[in-house]
Amino acid sequence: MSYKITPVERKVVSVSYEAYNNNQLGFTTRQLHAGYNPAEHYKSKAVPIYQTAAFELGDFDRCTRLFNYSEEGHSYVRFSNPTNTVLEKRIASLEGGAEAIALGSGMAAISNTFLNIAVAGDEIVAVSTLYGGSTTLLRSILPDYGIIGRFVEDENDIESYKKVINQKTKAIYIESLGNPGMNIIDIEAVANLAHEHGIPLIIDNTFATPYLLRPFDFGADIVCYSATKYLAGHGTTIVGIVVEKGGFNWLNGKFPQFEKFYEEYKDTIGKDTLDETMFTKRLRIRYLTDFGSHLSPNSAFNVLQGMETLSLRMRQHTANAKAVAEFLESHPEVLSVSYPGLESSKYHELALKYFPKGPGAILSIRLKGGLVAAKKVLEEVKLFDYMVNVGDAKSLIVHSATSTHFGQNREEREKAGVYDDTLRLSVGIEDVEDLIADLKQALDKIMY
Ligand code: PLP
Repeated sequence: MSYKITPVERKVVSVSYEAYNNNQLGFTTRQLHAGYNPAEHYKSKAVPIYQTAAFELGDFDRCTRLFNYSEEGHSYVRFSNPTNTVLEKRIASLEGGAEAIALGSGMAAISNTFLNIAVAGDEIVAVSTLYGGSTTLLRSILPDYGIIGRFVEDENDIESYKKVINQKTKAIYIESLGNPGMNIIDIEAVANLAHEHGIPLIIDNTFATPYLLRPFDFGADIVCYSATKYLAGHGTTIVGIVVEKGGFNWLNGKFPQFEKFYEEYKDTIGKDTLDETMFTKRLRIRYLTDFGSHLSPNSAFNVLQGMETLSLRMRQHTANAKAVAEFLESHPEVLSVSYPGLESSKYHELALKYFPKGPGAILSIRLKGGLVAAKKVLEEVKLFDYMVNVGDAKSLIVHSATSTHFGQNREEREKAGVYDDTLRLSVGIEDVEDLIADLKQALDKIMY
């Protein structure tokens, strides 16, 4: 029997795929679909990995348009790749931002952001409660290139920020949940101060993810991620992402490098696009292109896969973290627990304001028995893995002073809440009873 096949008119873009880009759809729907139209990729349901170094340019005119950025498209994978584009669009949607860029690591995201915003002679105001790598960058590396990190005395006192801001300041940089102290800064107040001075607020939102906090809703202008952590979510991939809210006025007289860029590209990229997303455009054309830290498409695929379950994982992570924090607070060997979800935390009120779904799943503890006790717990835990990473679905534990904050002197470390007796826990999504039992048996073994 033979079938008569009638040719059908195929729509290239179906309405439902366009709907995925609609920011009115829920977070969980968008984490699965935003930024991807299967009709543009042979209807592949999974986002394809474009494993190629370059793309055919077509004809002479198209090549010219691609290279002067008057046409969107892909030419060489150091600049862009369709797999990465889906990741960039998806995170921009979840974040409520205008555009995003994927880079080879969280540190690449942060360092390239600083280099895009500041040139020799400029300053960046930051807090002491940062991931160790970011502090080292601002204190010890960028100064060799003429960019100075100025650290505020007290990150909870807005007057402290005012004291270090001057004409050379080009940005304020904070973390939404500090590493490892889990301190919370009043983002709105700092954003207002930054804007009074015509400079952007940059936030590392790694520990929170857009599911728990969307910094743009509180005035931030740029968000950086180590997507290595919760966004990828399974400890498989090193990834960084930068998201731009859009609309910051880079032509306000404080950023000559953006004025130069605007003149160069206003006729090809277009003034409206540059007014909205000049930070990202310059980051891609200047830094991604010539410093060369674009993400590989394989890694982009891993993050996309991880992000499909972000909201589900974050719900379990935060519920587990609260229960673990409460248990630890009640254990006689524990001196203190830093977790803003606890009523005893000095950041509890800010946690209620900024983190109604829970302030993440990382916490740090100090032990009464000092360094000896910390070593004992690391030796005895069986479910918690002794690892320097965070944000894995599996539970992890580390001694920050000898790992993440290695290389900082005692004063710098202690300002970030890292003492010899401090352990940082990244609470995973295992059954919480098992996690508590593991910590209990390890803590109970501490001897003097
Ligand atoms: N930001 C925070 C808060 C981090 O914890 C880390 C790494 O631990 C980074 C940035 C750097 O990220 P990556 O390791 O992906 O370069």
